[in-house]
This record gives sequence, structure tokens and C-alpha cells, in this order.
Amino acid sequence: MKDTFKHKGLRQQLVNIIEAKGIKDPKVLKAIGKIPRHLFMDSSFLDHAYQDKAFPIAADQTISQPYTVAFQTELLQITPGDKILEIGTGSGYQTAVLCELGAKVYSIERQNELFKKTSKFLPKLGYRAKKLVFGDGYLGLEEEAPFDGIIVSAGAPYVPKPLLSQLKIGGRLVIPVGDDIQVMTMFTRKGPKEYEQEEFGEFRFVPLLGDKN
Ligand code: SAH
Repeated sequence: MKDTFKHKGLRQQLVNIIEAKGIKDPKVLKAIGKIPRHLFMDSSFLDHAYQDKAFPIAADQTISQPYTVAFQTELLQITPGDKILEIGTGSGYQTAVLCELGAKVYSIERQNELFKKTSKFLPKLGYRAKKLVFGDGYLGLEEEAPFDGIIVSAGAPYVPKPLLSQLKIGGRLVIPVGDDIQVMTMFTRKGPKEYEQEEFGEFRFVPLLGDKN
């Protein structure tokens, strides 16, 4: 678990790349510059850790592309203390970004192998989510709702209703919607039954699957 000067240098280059691609929030850029992404990946991909690309992790899943992580996080506009629900813990990289921004993070993963691995790993780096859950993100996390923000890091064929209903008034759901290609979509809750919907271009994610595994 080493983080060397070389890693830090590569990380700064990555920050420059995603900034050039349009990420502006200094807090988000700082978090990407701080988190040792190489430690979230399998050793065979270490050389690739600071490229702006998604890479395979365990259980046929991927660690999301840094630009995508930054883009979704920027849309959430987190202030410290915000209660954030993440669907798709995966490697825990996005979870770490949310923790760096001072959010109280609740995260759900449906693959038991990843859930166990990441639950052990994140505290070793000092990232303490409020709760990591092995479960089905389609259901959200009713017992901890409402949330200031919900972020989905897998491609959703449709928008799960529980995620909309578990938002605070003023809260935001950032979710890539679609089958093969997804449109990044943000829902802002304006009232008990009113939501504003905005779209932010196309992305590609692994699919949001039903039930646990
Ligand atoms: N943010 C993660 C992304 C991992 S890929 C990272 O950067 O590492 C998407 C993750 O969503 C996978 O780990 C996958 O197992 C998980 N996932 C897919 N469907 C899910 C569901 N219904 N509930 C919870 N997690 C789900």
C-alpha cells in the first residue's frame, strides 16, 4: 500500500486532464488529486491507474473513469455534512471522493465479493462511510432516507421510484439512464411530488442489475 512521489505526480497530471475536460469544482479536483486511485485497482492494472479510463476490478465490474466520477460528484454540489446515498460501491473510489468532500456516505453494492473486499479496504485508507450495505440499490435505503443527494454509478434501464422518493426537498439524484449508452440525468426534488429533470450528455456504464448476488 505505497503512495510514492511518482504516483502523486501522475495524479496531478490526471487532475490537469479532467480539468481540461471541463471539471471546475476545486474541491472535486482536490479530492481526485489526493486519493491514491492505484490502490483501488488490481495490481495488473497499476500502470493504468492515472489514465482517465475505466478499468476492470473484481466480479466483472469496473472502477469508473475519473472524469465520470468527477462529473457526477460536481453535479451533486456537496456541502460538508450532506447525507449522500451511493448505488454501486464497487472499488470504493467514488465512495472515497464523497468522503473527501465531507459527506456522510451510505453506499450499496449488490456483489458480495466486492462488498466484502471494499468494506475491509476503505477503512485502511482512513475512509469511513456511515454505512456500507450489501443489497439491491433499486430499493434505495428507506431506513436512512431522506438524502441530500443520491448518486448511481451503474447504468439504469429506468429511474427506480424509491430513489426519487428518498430525496429531501431540494435534494438531487444523479443517475445515468439507458441500456447500452446512458444519458446522465439529474432530478432535483422541488416539492413532495415535483421534480425538475436535466440531462448532461452520454456516458457508458456497466448495467444496474436487479437483486443481490
Ligand atoms: N463507483 C464504482 C463503480 C463500480 S461499477 C467504482 O468506481 O469502483 C458499478 C457497480 O454497481 C458494480 O460494483 C456493480 O456490482 C454495482 N451494482 C450494479 N447493480 C447494482 C444494484 N442494483 N445495487 C447495488 N449495486 C449495484
